[in-house]
Amino acid sequence: MEIPKIKNLEIKEVIKDNILIAHQNKVPSDFSCCDGLIILPRKGRNSETVILDLNIQPKYSIELYKDIGPILNYVCTHGHLDHMAHVYGWEALEATIHAPNPEANYLLDLKNFHKDNFDARVSFSDVKKFAELNEYFTCNNVEAFEPGDTLKFENLIIETIPFPGHGNGHVGLYIPSEKVLHISCMGFDQPEPGIDGFGPWYGFQDCSIEQYLEDIDKAEKLFLEKAKFLTSSHGYIVKNPDKTPFEYMRRKLKERQNLVNMAAIKSELSLNLEESVNLLLEQDLIFQKKKMKSFLKKIYTFWEYWIIKKHLQHTYKTLEIEEQD
Ligand SMILES: [Zn+2]
Repeated sequence: MEIPKIKNLEIKEVIKDNILIAHQNKVPSDFSCCDGLIILPRKGRNSETVILDLNIQPKYSIELYKDIGPILNYVCTHGHLDHMAHVYGWEALEATIHAPNPEANYLLDLKNFHKDNFDARVSFSDVKKFAELNEYFTCNNVEAFEPGDTLKFENLIIETIPFPGHGNGHVGLYIPSEKVLHISCMGFDQPEPGIDGFGPWYGFQDCSIEQYLEDIDKAEKLFLEKAKFLTSSHGYIVKNPDKTPFEYMRRKLKERQNLVNMAAIKSELSLNLEESVNLLLEQDLIFQKKKMKSFLKKIYTFWEYWIIKKHLQHTYKTLEIEEQD
């Protein structure tokens, strides 16, 4: 088939006439969209299209539908806003929505997203404003699965791979018949070779740097041993045996670790973890918060709190220093 041509939507073939990847260029806000896969119908495999984690504004999913519909199923990889905001649009196109536990609940009610991820420092009304900025709406029904479950749509098999470093329910997706590994939001966010993005993101309490390092090793092994193509939510397509995504993610983690360590040394921090985090938080090491206003400042401060805390804890662990509260 011809690749659909839709303004503001970049569509590429991962595998000719079989799997496409799409990217929305201009987005309403920073956490509004992510790239995802379109698995076209194929005789004996799936009679209707299956969409994997392509969170784009409904005006584009409607356009796309004209070329690739009907759509049987949609798989969301985790409950962050850049993967949830517009999923309701696919549901409106009659796709059955699947999402991992516990995050399937965030698609049904924003209160669940707030309750599981934030505390008193960020109110529900702040999160609501942030969700509105990203054009989030709820879904009516979501089929929940457990990270690690294998999904079967007709004869199309999709293995969900737990990568919890980025968040409790966060999964990658592996399609064994096509040898495609989608590592989702793990942190390979180079738009093209040599151009850096933010890298791995771990701004909630349930994220973990140690788990991240394990996830990267696991994804690398799976890719090199079993897959031909690697795709992700914010990066370019990689062909086996290219190790760039894994080296990139490890480097970004290390660079940020060094940034926090250096700032901690310069500030002559005490060993009181909470005090140290709050002191470093004022330095705008990770996000330019000073320029931000209102609810955005609160949310980015909350994320940076956890990012810095995780790095300091990682240093404490490496140096075998006991945490003091
Ligand atoms: Zn995410």
